[in-house]
Amino acid sequence: MKSFLRSSVLILAVLLINGFKTDLPKTDLPKMDLHVHLNYASQSLGITADSAYQKASKLSKKMGVTFGIAEEFGSDNVRRNDSLLANRIALAKKYSLYLGLQVSRRDWNSIFSPENLNKIDFILADALIFPNRKGEMIYIWVPGMPLGEPQEFMDIYVAHNLKVLSEPITIWANPTFLPDALIARYDELWTDARMKSLIDAAVKNHVAIEINSRFKVPNARFIKMAKAAGAHFTFGTNQHGDGIGEIAWSINIAKDCGLTKEDFFIPKRKL
Ligand SMILES: [Zn+2]
Repeated sequence: MKSFLRSSVLILAVLLINGFKTDLPKTDLPKMDLHVHLNYASQSLGITADSAYQKASKLSKKMGVTFGIAEEFGSDNVRRNDSLLANRIALAKKYSLYLGLQVSRRDWNSIFSPENLNKIDFILADALIFPNRKGEMIYIWVPGMPLGEPQEFMDIYVAHNLKVLSEPITIWANPTFLPDALIARYDELWTDARMKSLIDAAVKNHVAIEINSRFKVPNARFIKMAKAAGAHFTFGTNQHGDGIGEIAWSINIAKDCGLTKEDFFIPKRKL
């Protein structure tokens, strides 16, 4: 009885120490969330940024998931962007995190110095902001945007994705995301031909495809088609503060589609 009690206490202690680690499915795929946004004033320097990175680092260790922070600096002021980026490069090193830049301006290459861009671990972009047929800028995750006729919307959306995929980016985020108004028609609107054109572009330009746990995209048909074409993948949450690192959906669909660790993009820098 005594030894039973002792082993129960031991098991309980191990569970408490490991905590959230048990939440993720067992896998030998790289447990990484390379689309982490932190909840803090993104323009801040000093103690605010330092403590946000420190907190993220602690959570990453606790969950057993490697984090890649996706920062978003997009002002016109190159010196300001550069000083923020240099600061985050130092913090990422200090706290064993990967550092990425999420770019949403199409002239992003000109608002940072090449030296700084060369020091970050990845550049991530999605294709969710573009002009509709009438030339009105649409943010397609925002409900009620003037999307236009669905097939026409898809053609413009695919063309915009091709433009983004031709840029020197590392990761294509939120791939095949559809607005709420069209989500029920995902299988019909994402024809094989539309999927194939984007997969071919990603493979040709060596852009890894994110498997996104928050929006649950892309679907299995897309992932299998992309694997067959020789694409590489990443896991990402695109969560802000709460929910970062929670990549269970991504792991499960990757396993279902037969992905192996060789199919994944891993940043080069040793953490
Ligand atoms: Zn993001």
